[in-house]
Amino acid sequence: MDREVDVLVVGAGPTGSTAAKYAALGGAEVLLIEKRSEIGTPVRCGEGVAKRWLEEIGLAPSREFICHEVDGARVIAPDGTTLVLDETRAGNECGYVLERDLFDRFLAREAAKAGADIMIKTSAVDLLRQDGQVVGARCEHMGDTFDVHADVVIGADGFESQVGRWAGLETHLRTRDIDACLQYTLVGVDGDPRLNDFYLGSCAPGGYAWVFWKEADVANVGIGVNLSKIRDRADAKKYLDALIERTPSLARGEIVEEVAGAVSVSLPLERTVAPGVMLAGDAARLIDPLTGGGILNGCLSGKYAGEIASEASKLASTEDLFQAYERRWRTRMEEELARHYLIKERLIRVDDETINKVIRAVSDIGVQRISTQSVLDAIRNRYPEVLQAFDGLL
Ligand SMILES: Cc1cc2nc3c(=O)[nH]c(=O)nc-3n(C[C@H](O)[C@H](O)[C@H](O)COP(=O)(O)OP(=O)(O)OC[C@H]3O[C@@H](n4cnc5c(N)ncnc54)[C@H](O)[C@@H]3O)c2cc1C
Repeated sequence: MDREVDVLVVGAGPTGSTAAKYAALGGAEVLLIEKRSEIGTPVRCGEGVAKRWLEEIGLAPSREFICHEVDGARVIAPDGTTLVLDETRAGNECGYVLERDLFDRFLAREAAKAGADIMIKTSAVDLLRQDGQVVGARCEHMGDTFDVHADVVIGADGFESQVGRWAGLETHLRTRDIDACLQYTLVGVDGDPRLNDFYLGSCAPGGYAWVFWKEADVANVGIGVNLSKIRDRADAKKYLDALIERTPSLARGEIVEEVAGAVSVSLPLERTVAPGVMLAGDAARLIDPLTGGGILNGCLSGKYAGEIASEASKLASTEDLFQAYERRWRTRMEEELARHYLIKERLIRVDDETINKVIRAVSDIGVQRISTQSVLDAIRNRYPEVLQAFDGLL
């Protein structure tokens, strides 16, 4: 079963399928492997994404994978003060609510249509090396072991990525850079399905809780709590259950699905390439550290990795090419990720009263006039002491 391809992509999440698609469109012979027996399931995601990103990764919005559209978000402070944001200001996780399983399969189909081969139930178990360069991966498929030789291996193997570690890249995460997540899909809930909800403060230590609507009475209700703020991951359930219990509109819902997982809320890896390997998406720690959303950056970095990898088979030396990948994703997203990381670092330290004040001050501005400057001015005028908590950052 040994094979030779131009590009081997490990992991058929949104990142891997997008990488495989663009590598194939670039003319490369591509193999996409996925360890699970069905691409897209089980879903471990709140399924919220911003509308604007689809265009950037070359996808038209489609009912095939979008299940609900929202107009914006409500940000709810610990004292109940509510800030309504329109979709453009609500961040990368607001606008569409996906059917993630259908979305992941849609992207895999796009990769296949572009010419990539796909193997499910197939795990990378180690990398193949020659003269200090990665030249493929050892794979397992239903008990059989075989080698895939490739000019480039794209590690799109998610939060628990092993490809990066095998390639000798530093992928270790500190406790404070991980959020434990738990989510229920609740049916029979009440609320305004035009707005996704974000609950801040000690109800979700170091993170936030969300209500992402899937239909008029069905929502993903989840929580992300910073690992440095809890004793063990099971505490996420305690916080989520408590929030639901004291929110009557949610408490009347019935749980039809439960998912647990983790997201990195770290800076991106210092290096996302090694000779013969590129890491993309969650594997490269490209999740937004403020929101925990990673689909957009996964698809974008997958696109860049795929496009650049397709060039590799045409060149004698590929070192510059790998650096080009690193430069490209950093140019597009590093500044925002770094800024959001700094904000997250401050936010995990602020108390409920500070959050109440910030939300109160910002909700006075009026949604149409919200800008960085107007937010600063509002906080400075009303609660100058709060600005000190964010000294240097704002
Ligand atoms: C509870 C929760 C809620 C979230 N909510 C949101 C949200 O609302 N919006 C948002 O944008 N993001 C959200 N995220 C983050 C988002 O799910 C990830 O950022 C996204 O899935 C990243 O895609 P990926 O392709 O990089 O990784 P993944 O989706 O994790 O895909 C990696 C794939 O690689 C496969 N794989 C792993 N190892 C191997 C191997 N050795 N061989 C072969 N295959 C392998 C896995 O089976 C998997 O299919 C959430 C995450 C969690 C946990």
